[in-house]
Amino acid sequence: RPPDLFRPERVNSKGWDLRHRTDLDGFHAARNRFKSHQWVVTPTIAGEVWAAEAREVHSPSDPSEIVGYVSHTTPEQVETALKSARSWAGASAQERSDTLNRAADLYEKSSGEIFAALSREAGKSGPDAIAEIREAVDFLRYYGAEAVRLGGFQERGVISCISPWNFPLAIFTGQIAAALAAGNGVLAKPADPTPIVASIGVRLLHKAGVPLSVLQLVPGAGSVVGARITTDPRVNGICFTGSTGVAQKISRDSAERLEPDATFIAETGGLNAMIVDSTALPEQAVKDIVNSAFQSAGQRCSALRVLYLQKDIADTFLEMLFGAMDELRLGNPWDLAVDVGPIITEKARREIQEHVDTASRDGKLLKQVKYPGQGYFVGPAVIEVSGVQDLEKEIFGPVLHVALFEADEIDRIIESINASDYGLTFGLHTRIDDRVQHITSKLNVGNMYVNRNQIGAIVGSQPFGGEGLSGTGPKAGGPHYVKRFKKLNLPLNAV
Ligand code: GLU
Repeated sequence: RPPDLFRPERVNSKGWDLRHRTDLDGFHAARNRFKSHQWVVTPTIAGEVWAAEAREVHSPSDPSEIVGYVSHTTPEQVETALKSARSWAGASAQERSDTLNRAADLYEKSSGEIFAALSREAGKSGPDAIAEIREAVDFLRYYGAEAVRLGGFQERGVISCISPWNFPLAIFTGQIAAALAAGNGVLAKPADPTPIVASIGVRLLHKAGVPLSVLQLVPGAGSVVGARITTDPRVNGICFTGSTGVAQKISRDSAERLEPDATFIAETGGLNAMIVDSTALPEQAVKDIVNSAFQSAGQRCSALRVLYLQKDIADTFLEMLFGAMDELRLGNPWDLAVDVGPIITEKARREIQEHVDTASRDGKLLKQVKYPGQGYFVGPAVIEVSGVQDLEKEIFGPVLHVALFEADEIDRIIESINASDYGLTFGLHTRIDDRVQHITSKLNVGNMYVNRNQIGAIVGSQPFGGEGLSGTGPKAGGPHYVKRFKKLNLPLNAV
């Protein structure tokens, strides 16, 4: 592809480097103002604030901490939102682009508040929160540039954006920014556990100049709000990130009710694997495994779930891995030295720990780091398996499964990964060039990473998205994404 498709006129956000005194001091001051702030989230519909019954939002690191309050959108309010929803076709592509760029600047200026909310509401570690703010800013600027490049094509109308709690700012903002860049109106439903971070994003987008009827916030349960905004014929498209099961349900239900030309974009789960062969650099591979499997407490759809480790190196390698796991610091991520924060809800914590306990009863648990504190924590764990086929579903937490293999079994591994029907990320640690080529040509995954970690795709240079049960495409942060929000009856590569 021509390089300008990947690099429109803009640069990615610089972010903050907390090793530098000036960055660190400014950062502390900015976030400390929100240390015990309590936010109030209400639906914003047709430019008005609609409060109903307020529910408490608790911190997953310390459930006794109330981070704020949220009013769920009632069915009548959803109807008003659908009635008042407007596309953004009234603004020129340049105006839309300028507005998204202004929003990016506001996000950067408000990073202290956003950081505090990410930490307290979503349990994000310091590095995760910083990376997430950067990613949201990058989406705004990248799709802002795409607005101009694709300015000649018609918008679809109104898009329902349904986002996940694990990237309550970046994915929430990315979906909305793409829909807006293309000239659509948006009904934005944040994930149940994280309405506060989302509402800050919406406030800043409105402040930047997105009209109130073009972007409406409808917090609430999937079964009430989500179900309604994905089955109403006044909606012209759906952008969803979350579990494969929910995506399949939305796809079925919306197919019956929406116009046939409505678009459906889904980014879902994965059973992501990594192969480490005996030529890998062990120190590098261990670092990348710890990062890919346990950063964000494993709550990324890109996270490493199954490590294939060549038998010859397994003993020393696992010893190094377990040693590195013992160094991880678990706890409330308000402490910037924390590596692994909490699981998002008590229900999710219980399910993940049950999976580990079952493995323990079966004699397959190789290691679990202990965590004696409060909150919804699961100590990072390693479980022995024979391959991806042993996993019935994605375990969305800090649990790494390890399978040992012999040198001649690479093709068998590739076949079983492909047979899982998921295809999101894949990692490979090897110094055999032919092996890289061979696996690249055989494996069906969206993002493959060689001799590095396998999380944290960068907007504009590593478009992110999977195949099969992992998503519909197009890849987020890439040159085909915004096109799907347009009425564009051309092959994807033609523009
Ligand atoms: N884009 C993120 C990454 O590359 C993952 C997104 C997700 O977990 O939904 O790690």
